Amino acid sequence: MSETPTYIGFEAYTGHIPPSIPSAVQQATARFAVGRAARVSELPQFEQLRQIASDIRLHTIENMDTYLLRFEEKVTAAGGHVHWAATAEDARQIVLQIAREHNVKLAVKSKSMATEEIGLNHALETAGIEALETDLGEYIIQLAGTGPSHIIVPAIHLKKEEIAAIFSEKLGIDAPADPIELTRIAREILREKFLNAEMGVSGANFLIAETGTLVMVTNEGNGRMCTTMPDLHVAVVGIDKIIPDWESLTVFLKLLARSATGQKLSTYTQFITGPRRAEGEFGPKEFHIVLLDNGRSDVLKDPIGREVFKCIRCGACANVCPVYKNVGGFAYGWFISGPIGAIFAPQMLGTPTARELPYASTLCGACADVCPVKIPIPTILRHLRRRVAEGDQIAASTMPAPIAAAAKLSALALAQNWIYRFGARILPPVMALFTRDSWISSAPYPLNRWTKSRPLLAFTAGFRSWWKNRNAK
Ligand code: SF4
Repeated sequence: MSETPTYIGFEAYTGHIPPSIPSAVQQATARFAVGRAARVSELPQFEQLRQIASDIRLHTIENMDTYLLRFEEKVTAAGGHVHWAATAEDARQIVLQIAREHNVKLAVKSKSMATEEIGLNHALETAGIEALETDLGEYIIQLAGTGPSHIIVPAIHLKKEEIAAIFSEKLGIDAPADPIELTRIAREILREKFLNAEMGVSGANFLIAETGTLVMVTNEGNGRMCTTMPDLHVAVVGIDKIIPDWESLTVFLKLLARSATGQKLSTYTQFITGPRRAEGEFGPKEFHIVLLDNGRSDVLKDPIGREVFKCIRCGACANVCPVYKNVGGFAYGWFISGPIGAIFAPQMLGTPTARELPYASTLCGACADVCPVKIPIPTILRHLRRRVAEGDQIAASTMPAPIAAAAKLSALALAQNWIYRFGARILPPVMALFTRDSWISSAPYPLNRWTKSRPLLAFTAGFRSWWKNRNAK
């Protein structure tokens, strides 16, 4: 069972990374990016919708308190219970208290980043409550004992052969490397658990203030089973998931699945407004929602950084990010990875803790180009880099001395043509000593800090000759 997902930094996964990460991640992200492009090209109003979505999110961020109070009022009127959690610890204690009051022994969970954020599984297990992930990807990584490596595809880094090996080892069976058969095995095990669980736990994609409705967008039926089969449903949701009304939702639903998986609409879109109304109706007898702050209110004070809360967690930015595609999600050291992780973690945890992440980007801008809610990710990255290097009214400078010295040296090399040319000439033959198939998996000090947890793409210094030849054409 994974521990509370505090930031664990660049060297956290030493020795546990499958060597297939770059190829597994690149194959999957390329599929999603192609699917996204195809669906987007079918919708002429896509750019217009992006702008509307961005405007709605900004408006909601600026009026979050009003919409959250309206949401609370509507949930309560529908017979649900709203709990406010200022910290991750508060949220864990609220869920544990509810579980104890209902004598819960087994909780089934649908995919939820908020419960990853608060380390709920670990807290439940410590309290003697079995917490079982039921989304297939989450189930796989729970068996593997790791966190997610992509926002919407948690086991994106694993190939089917590696998943089969995990099933065989952890379930004590002879699992074949066949996705249909692996799914069948998981479904059989999970079905039994759904029938016996006393509590279902979920997150949410959106919270509609107008009616107090929780919206879940999924491609597996497990979300429905978790939220309707047990008599008790507890949702843990970040306060940033609030949207004003159903009209807003229609905009986000047009953008979310297209941007995430290249679908027009996901397989299931589920709406939950309170518990079931009467005996004999479908759904849980009790519905609780924990509204999680955990530092979000502080981020809201920063007019540049707070645009991170426009995010609808589609993962499109990761699918096109050249950094993410080459290092995978674990390198970000937190449960949200990719470009959104690089702007989310340093703000939620503070730049002294996650100060490397704003630099985990080439600033190429591909993320901002595909983001369905127009988050200016490169602008926020630069804003956070400035905070790390110089400090600002929110955080003091935290640039370590060796990095500051390296940055000065780099600036000198880039400003002096001859130094750059000299480096470009000697680096490739030196790196060739450690390179295999264009990748370096074990580099000498100090680069071994990097290759301990991910391979490094070999430096080729081909730009100058490419540029020269290009001009010669
Ligand atoms: S930042 Fe934009 S592209 Fe990335 S996950 Fe959030 S909404 Fe999607």
